[in-house]
Amino acid sequence: MSAERQPLPVPAPKITTTNAAFWEATARGEFTLQRCAACDLVIWFPRRTCPQCWTEGIESFAASGRGTVYSFTVVRKGSGAYRDAAPFVVAYVELAEGPRVLTNIVGCDPADVTVGMAVEVEWHDTGEGNAVYRFRPAAG
Ligand SMILES: [Zn+2]
Repeated sequence: MSAERQPLPVPAPKITTTNAAFWEATARGEFTLQRCAACDLVIWFPRRTCPQCWTEGIESFAASGRGTVYSFTVVRKGSGAYRDAAPFVVAYVELAEGPRVLTNIVGCDPADVTVGMAVEVEWHDTGEGNAVYRFRPAAG
């Protein structure tokens, strides 16, 4: 038999000049997105120019941290640092603001995850001044 299931690892992100503001906000429990001032596109992941119209007029804003499961899979045999965390869920969550984010669904049995399920962000502290976003079933 395999070892007892362990929590998901919480790897610290690689900080760049482009994503630093995003990761700083995670320490405050804030999931930030960007919006293009010229074409109004909501942008994920952090960038310097709009991927639709290529202008540099991008502003960050605090998103709701809410969304729904767009698609997911259950990983039953993890590798590396994730070996003892299986089974766990890897999912695309469609945020209320539009973009889809690759993440994990936590806080429930993997067998209970469904497409369309309402989820909310949960922060996992990296111990390095920021936190990794994961999503759990929404309260209520
Ligand atoms: Zn734009």
